[in-house]
Amino acid sequence: MKPVDFEYERPVALEDALTLLAQPGARVLAGGQSLGPMLNLRLAQPALLVDITAIDALQVASQENGALTLGACVTHTAIEDGDLPDVTNGAMASVARDIAYRAVRNRGTIGGSLAHADPAADWLTCLSALGAEVIAAGVAGERRIPVASFVGGAFETTLQPGEMLRAVSVPALSDGAKWGFYKFCRKEGDFAEAIGAVLQDGETARTVLGATNGAPLVIDGSYSDDAVRAAIDAQPDMDAYDRQVHFIAAKRAAMIAGVRAA
Ligand SMILES: Cc1cc2nc3c(=O)[nH]c(=O)nc-3n(C[C@H](O)[C@H](O)[C@H](O)COP(=O)(O)OP(=O)(O)OC[C@H]3O[C@@H](n4cnc5c(N)ncnc54)[C@H](O)[C@@H]3O)c2cc1C
Repeated sequence: MKPVDFEYERPVALEDALTLLAQPGARVLAGGQSLGPMLNLRLAQPALLVDITAIDALQVASQENGALTLGACVTHTAIEDGDLPDVTNGAMASVARDIAYRAVRNRGTIGGSLAHADPAADWLTCLSALGAEVIAAGVAGERRIPVASFVGGAFETTLQPGEMLRAVSVPALSDGAKWGFYKFCRKEGDFAEAIGAVLQDGETARTVLGATNGAPLVIDGSYSDDAVRAAIDAQPDMDAYDRQVHFIAAKRAAMIAGVRAA
């Protein structure tokens, strides 16, 4: 199948992109790794595609008040290769390295991954666990949304019509932060069946289960098997296999973080 006819614009200024996105039927194009197939299958039928990859401001990283702000068009490869500053003691580079395969990582962007809101996307779980925020922009201004509440369900975000994801703000981890990330995939490069992420950094502690049927499941507080089991048991749409594989993903993440013994 071929896409429906659509207009195409590739602005170089963020303000121009936001003006274009205010038009009815306009949609952002970033790396095209998910949107390309969606267009071909006519799951997406935009009137206008606004390609944001020529906007320099979306490719850069900056550090302020201990947080790292990554532009929406930063690719998985740029993070994997350490081309940008890192405030996560290598946690993000390690997650990037295991996303799909290199050709996808070269084009796929952190903003596109979050905005697509596939429950199995690695950044959704990783950045929820790190306590990152999305910076959404529209013609009316900007707002910040914690990644953990940015996603309402599978392929659903809280972006409003005309808004785009401009950047992601990632808080810095301390040198002593404990971090673990583990995912089950049928084969290397596949989307995950279950993801566990565990952070313990001073008073900040959370466990996140990803690749659920909806938004990531965030469990606040220090890692505990019982808390993870209770959170999983409260999910009505998980079968016995799903429950076990998510529990083991979280447990292995906790072991990697060093907050749980084998
Ligand atoms: C074969 C394959 C395997 C993959 N495996 C994995 C994997 O293991 N783990 C994983 O996490 N991901 C995986 N992905 C997803 C990939 O890593 C990309 O992150 C993802 O495709 C979306 O990023 P993109 O930049 O290509 O966005 P696009 O495809 O351009 O856009 C995706 C959606 O997000 C919207 N969008 C994009 N950017 C913005 C923005 N800044 N603001 C608002 N809306 C926006 C678009 O309108 C579209 O609806 C895989 C993809 C492929 C093709």
